Amino acid sequence: MDTFFPKFSKKRDGVNVIMEQKLLKNVNNLILNGQTCTGCGICAEACPEEAISLGLVGAVRRGVVDYAEPINIDEKKCSYCGVCVVMCPFNSLTLKIDGEEALPIVEREGFPEYDMVTEIDQDKCVKCTICEDVCPRDAISREVPVFEGTVEGAAGKQTAIAAKTTFTVDDEKCTRCGICAELCPAIDVKRKPFSAESGAVVGDVVWDEKLCDACQVCVEACPEDAIKVEREVESAKLSGKVEILEENCCTCRWCDINCPAEAITVEKIFEGDIEFNADKCPAGCSTCVEVCPANAIYLPTPKAAKDLKGENEPVIAVNKDLCILCGACVNACPGEDIITLKRTGIRVKGKETDLFLKIKDKLCTPRTSKVKEDARDEVELKMMETA
Ligand code: SF4
Repeated sequence: MDTFFPKFSKKRDGVNVIMEQKLLKNVNNLILNGQTCTGCGICAEACPEEAISLGLVGAVRRGVVDYAEPINIDEKKCSYCGVCVVMCPFNSLTLKIDGEEALPIVEREGFPEYDMVTEIDQDKCVKCTICEDVCPRDAISREVPVFEGTVEGAAGKQTAIAAKTTFTVDDEKCTRCGICAELCPAIDVKRKPFSAESGAVVGDVVWDEKLCDACQVCVEACPEDAIKVEREVESAKLSGKVEILEENCCTCRWCDINCPAEAITVEKIFEGDIEFNADKCPAGCSTCVEVCPANAIYLPTPKAAKDLKGENEPVIAVNKDLCILCGACVNACPGEDIITLKRTGIRVKGKETDLFLKIKDKLCTPRTSKVKEDARDEVELKMMETA
């Protein structure tokens, strides 16, 4: 028998953990995608009900434990407001009310959203493969035809760029010998039935522009120098479209920095700074390298002794151009005071409500890594005094 009191449940469904609150006939679900969740902990700091805590971020993201997610959500404390959904920079949370996606905090009270700047200038973009290859989040959609040589039935290579090809045969010179047709699928020599009436080999040389890649084999092989092939390139760019999928983009700027055509503009959603205290880092751990969703942290290449000039070699480093200041590394680091994160601003659009300003204040409080794991499956952050 139904009671008037909410009923709660939590269950796993593939990569998702589904929190549920049932109240009379209403059903609220908060869904966490444990695969895309990076353990950045922004949701935990944003949640007005303190319903979210950090899990064993490093261990989970490194695959050492498979029974937990990087964060824990208490389905009983959750008010199903949707703040965490809006604030998650990795789109790992979804809120559903009676089966429909909803964001009560936005709909009822108003709340800003991240102001994503992720633009590709299609006029400048040459449709190369660099952005797709460097993106650490599969956020590039590169819809460029697949050309022959890689997949059966793929588009002809000669269609990759827009060009006009012309093919001419000098009828006076051509003997309809058929050599060009034997060498090229774009040419067919249609001879007329041999007849005593003409007593000669006659017919037409038929050419299909769609199959011609202007390779000039026919020109070079023609024993009579009867063929001319000319190709005028109209656009040297590959056809197709390259786009950034905002739902996957974490604004790391790998694509923006590496685009050879300077066609991409990405602005980070967090401003601030991150510092690595390599002296305190126990070399060999590399948890931060593995959890970083932006591939911004690295183990410096060892230097030869002659190049060290009396300095100690750092064991860990971050490329600040690529760091998105999400905090996943701080949460995962098992050492103390090794990584310090100081956010100074958040790029959002829409009215910065009182609730948002409180959250911003928290997110902009500097924090550092800490030896933790006070309780099974939970870790704490070490918050620092605001300067
Ligand atoms: S829906 Fe609201 S109350 Fe529930 S976990 Fe997210 S932020 Fe917290």
